[in-house]
Amino acid sequence: MKVTDVKVYPLVQPLEIKSFAFSQTWVTGRQVTIVVISTDEGIEGCGEAFGPAQALARTIETFCAPRILGQDPFNTDVIWDSIYRPYRHNSQKGLLCEALSAVDIALWDIKGKATGQPVYNLLGGAFRDRAHAYATGLYRPMAEDPKAALIEEALGYKDAGFFAMKYKMGTVSVEEDLEILGAIRDAIGWDTTLMVDANCAYDAAEAVWLAREMEDLEIYWFEEPLPPEDLDGYVELKNSTTIRIAAGECEMTRFGFRELIARRCVDILQPDAGICGGITEFQKITAMASAWNTQIVPHVWGTNIAIAAALHCYAAIPHIPGKINPPEPFFEFDRSPNPLREGATHEKFTAVDSYIDIPKTPGLGVTVDKDFLKAHAVQ
Ligand SMILES: [Mg+2]
Repeated sequence: MKVTDVKVYPLVQPLEIKSFAFSQTWVTGRQVTIVVISTDEGIEGCGEAFGPAQALARTIETFCAPRILGQDPFNTDVIWDSIYRPYRHNSQKGLLCEALSAVDIALWDIKGKATGQPVYNLLGGAFRDRAHAYATGLYRPMAEDPKAALIEEALGYKDAGFFAMKYKMGTVSVEEDLEILGAIRDAIGWDTTLMVDANCAYDAAEAVWLAREMEDLEIYWFEEPLPPEDLDGYVELKNSTTIRIAAGECEMTRFGFRELIARRCVDILQPDAGICGGITEFQKITAMASAWNTQIVPHVWGTNIAIAAALHCYAAIPHIPGKINPPEPFFEFDRSPNPLREGATHEKFTAVDSYIDIPKTPGLGVTVDKDFLKAHAVQ
């Protein structure tokens, strides 16, 4: 089988009054880059990358596509190496690695469809057939009374059956964040798991102080408290609190994750298949995490294609550590406004009692809606 065509769809959709903020910026629109790879046997695969859509589309079209055309899509490691290695100056972190991620995911979709197997079977089989989903939301809203709006949103997740949810902190003062967090805890009670995500908002001293304040609120994990470059700060923080420390959505490739893992910077790793180098690289990161006895919770913030890719990677994560009745890893289920999420594929994902079924059909188990892609693609 040979790759015959690589088509890219940079999708952009404004959010207008549904705009929201996390600690680094206001999100006034959602964007995503979807790639569809065709073969001479009529099998197509789809992939997705996280990042600036138009720049990623240009990178895939001008840089990745010429290196994939004519290649056997089963050679995912060889193709990965052919794009990453000769261009290490550019590919270690950033757009080229994200572009490679989308391409790699699409190749795995093709491999699954060609063999009639769901992707997780090609990764060694599923340790679980459903994902234990938590709600990602609770961003700073454009509301007259943000605190009341956040409490209402949190209660909505609880009513929808989610066992856990995540609050995005760092858009306001630490005092205001703690007040809102306390109010959310009061509203949802102590039987719902609550995490926080700061998206790199603090230095080590502030994060250590905040973590101590949050221990009484039974915060399950403190996500990206520090910038990803401050690995020593992560070690300092991790050794100073009983709250689990999570990070990894900004990290790329097995080489980047090696530092996070081997230096024991975090308790929970959060690689994103659409960022870290695709399913090929996610699998290698998983093997390292297993060797260092470190948990993995996939990061995912895209359309149903990204969710599907994450679900297959998640299915194949071994229990870390294994035991007779191991708890299942958490699975990120982004509930923030994203009109592109549902439109990109014909299949939809829903959480019922906090569980999402992992697709069992060949490949990723989703089919792209090309009419939607064409309608929302920008130049
Ligand atoms: Mg995050």
